Amino acid sequence: MKAPVAEVFSSVQGEGLYVGVRQVFVRTYGCDLSCTYCDTPASRAQTGPCRIEQAPGADTWAEVANPVEAEFVLRTISTMADGPGRHHSVSITGGEPLLHPEFVAELAAGAHGLGLRVYLETNGQRVEELASVIGHIDIVAMDAKLPSSQVHDPGFDAEAFLRRSMDFLRIARRKSVFVKVICAADAREAEIEDVARGIAEQSPDVPLVLQPATPRYRGEDAVGAAELLRWQDVAARHLRDVRVIPQCHRMMGVR
Ligand code: SF4
Repeated sequence: MKAPVAEVFSSVQGEGLYVGVRQVFVRTYGCDLSCTYCDTPASRAQTGPCRIEQAPGADTWAEVANPVEAEFVLRTISTMADGPGRHHSVSITGGEPLLHPEFVAELAAGAHGLGLRVYLETNGQRVEELASVIGHIDIVAMDAKLPSSQVHDPGFDAEAFLRRSMDFLRIARRKSVFVKVICAADAREAEIEDVARGIAEQSPDVPLVLQPATPRYRGEDAVGAAELLRWQDVAARHLRDVRVIPQCHRMMGVR
């Protein structure tokens, strides 16, 4: 099975509950959302070469033409991973990897064959596609996107958007899952509470990470400490484990 892959590299996870673990990242091209704070705009495109990192952190790359076979990516992972143990897992990320569910399923099954766990990073909207691959996934790092974070059409239905996230969570809960909300400076307290309440209806034990959006350029508004702490309090009225974790890989200067 083929898919357009933007890059394959080895690094540390910089977000969410698994921050700091070593992973091989497979970043697919294409995304079905349009977030105002998107930090991977290149991967939202549908085309481009597949970049393969030549040495961890060295920023040297080889390029191959897209789309690439899952089998090719698995050979690359096998070389990078250098056997089980050195890497915690393979992170399948994007863009939105569930635009390519059959590729994800083949990649995930192959990663297990190499002795690696599979960590899926997703925007949490493609419910049927998740259902088709969940048997191959170990950990779901699911974003619950706030309606205010979307550049959307006039007909955008915020309630349906949240409902789809919660339908997605219902399936993700078959495996280990945490939910991440990226909070930009214009996020609204009520929508953060809506997400927390929606998660709690399924289980108050699902961890929620509030991730302040990293300003993309000097002068862009950052989320203030007072807002973050207030939003954490609001979410904690509904959930037992609410953490505030920034994008740590940005601080370390790694990918
Ligand atoms: S879901 Fe991710 S890749 Fe897609 S637009 Fe939002 S931040 Fe960018």
